[in-house]
Amino acid sequence: MFRRRADREFHDAQLAGQAMLQMHANWPAPDLTAPAAEPAAPAHGGGIEEVPDFPPPDLRVPSRHEVEGLMMRWEQPLVVDGEVRECPQCGAYRDWIVFSMRDDTIWLRCRAGHNTAEPRLDPAWYNRNSGPVDHFHPTLDDGLRHLGH
Ligand SMILES: [Zn+2]
Repeated sequence: MFRRRADREFHDAQLAGQAMLQMHANWPAPDLTAPAAEPAAPAHGGGIEEVPDFPPPDLRVPSRHEVEGLMMRWEQPLVVDGEVRECPQCGAYRDWIVFSMRDDTIWLRCRAGHNTAEPRLDPAWYNRNSGPVDHFHPTLDDGLRHLGH
């Protein structure tokens, strides 16, 4: 029983490593860089471009489809299918950062910075359990700092 579970977690960790490589290959930058951080497209015609930072970046809340991913802190133990989720690398079971990526995958990041996919969770779960999007972070590190990691 225990061995089967350990094997599965090892398998999950392998999959996570492969997926992470693919994600990096697809991303425009090493970090979670949102399109909103790039120069704005001249959607409103010529004159608008000459007014910098309008509206101010702080007031712009990108829609969920405009960002690479969403993130929230999850301090209590995370129970998935009746089982407390543990970090396959260090065994941590609480104080996660949970990511909901634009490709509909859910990722967990433990306090030690290990990333692991959680295929049993999906964006619908994330949306049910997260609050409204209230901060936009130009980089992954910025978001982690904001969330206290
Ligand atoms: Zn860990």
